[in-house]
Amino acid sequence: MVVQKFGGTSVADPDAIRRLIEIVRTARARDGRGPVVVVSAMSKVTDALLKIAADAGESRTDAALAQVEQLRERHRGVATALVTDGARMPLLAQIDEQFDQLAAVVRALAVLREVSPRTLDVVAAMGELLSSRIIAAALAPAGLPGEWVDARRVIVTNDHFMEAAPLLRETYAALRASVAPILDAGRVPVMGGFVAATVDGTTTTLGRGGSDYSGALVGAGLDAAEIQIWTDVDGMLTADPRLVPEPRLVSQLSFSEAAELAYFGAKVLHPSTILPAVERDIPVRILNSRKPEGQGTIITAHAADSPTLLTGLAAKRDVTVVDITSSRMLNSYGFLRQVFEVFERFKTAVDVVTTSEVSVSVTVDDRRNLDAIVAALSACGEVAIEPEMALLCAVGDRLRNEPEIGARVIRVLEEVPLRMISQAASRRNITVVLRQADLPHAMHRLHEEFFR
Ligand code: ASP
Ligand code: MG
Repeated sequence: MVVQKFGGTSVADPDAIRRLIEIVRTARARDGRGPVVVVSAMSKVTDALLKIAADAGESRTDAALAQVEQLRERHRGVATALVTDGARMPLLAQIDEQFDQLAAVVRALAVLREVSPRTLDVVAAMGELLSSRIIAAALAPAGLPGEWVDARRVIVTNDHFMEAAPLLRETYAALRASVAPILDAGRVPVMGGFVAATVDGTTTTLGRGGSDYSGALVGAGLDAAEIQIWTDVDGMLTADPRLVPEPRLVSQLSFSEAAELAYFGAKVLHPSTILPAVERDIPVRILNSRKPEGQGTIITAHAADSPTLLTGLAAKRDVTVVDITSSRMLNSYGFLRQVFEVFERFKTAVDVVTTSEVSVSVTVDDRRNLDAIVAALSACGEVAIEPEMALLCAVGDRLRNEPEIGARVIRVLEEVPLRMISQAASRRNITVVLRQADLPHAMHRLHEEFFR
């Protein structure tokens, strides 16, 4: 049995949902059981819901209610296109009930003039509740026995609204109690991702993009053979397609490699969201719902034998290098703490760090507090900044045991001035910092060397 999670663009309209139905049918025919379907809100719906809540909280009631009606029409339209006969009226009634409730929330917020995270979760959750109900109902006319599952009854979290953390034991128990019997009865459970609830039933959400997390939790709790993330790209690529004309699809990579690649740039999936699957050794496959025949990219817990020396390249543009030089650093302790405290104070994340006996270089991409940071760092030493830089990472598990690969990475870049070079504890990632202007050429060179 597989868990199939469909992102917003894969459920965006009736055509997308018809593709989803065929994908579900194929999996069911292959496995004879399931699949479990987890869906995002239709594309842009979560953004629209959050906008509605924000407008309502500032008493822009008319604007908010107009958007509510637009969303209502969009959902009714999709439901009408897909669900026929006797099932249509009850579904439209459920949709209307949800939007009437949303309109009531809008009016209440306009009076209260305050939107709490708890209320935002009630509003944001509506996107997935609606899409999942529509899709569950749309399976029957296509000859598939869909059954809607209320995600709030199976994904159990703490009460950290808008970014709630799942309680694994409770969640897995609820999945076994409520979803496994649906599978045993030969049916196809359909639920919204992203949406959850506390132990006492208060609605929460897992944070933006959280449907992947739901998919991983469901797969882990039900011991799925595979978790499929259906999206609008073919999978993870060997390089940034904006910089390299024809990157290749990475067919397989380890979770650690995916984490290194995702960290900079490769935005297909946030690796932390699939941890529950990785911990249980369940592979996660990224697939394109417009090209369901593709093999996609499979992410496994452990490294597999890679046919290529590297697994992929990733880049991040628009970074700034900050150098701090001080002879006080020599043989002293506490210096780095002082430096990093400054970044912490200004809530600015540091990406790459290199040090020598008398200097530290770091890169940041958030420039908002840069002036204040430079002023504060001046207490530690001489500070210089260099904007318009970029990071380029070469990632691959084989870097760990085959030192000549790392040497080759640096050699290929021999005519490119490298500002920083870093290979951290994982040893599966070599990151170089270079001028942004040199990035396209550098990435191209590496891609030619390692992937042609
Ligand atoms: N609909 C939610 C969002 O847009 C969750 C998701 O799609 O993963 O953030
Ligand atoms: Mg997503």
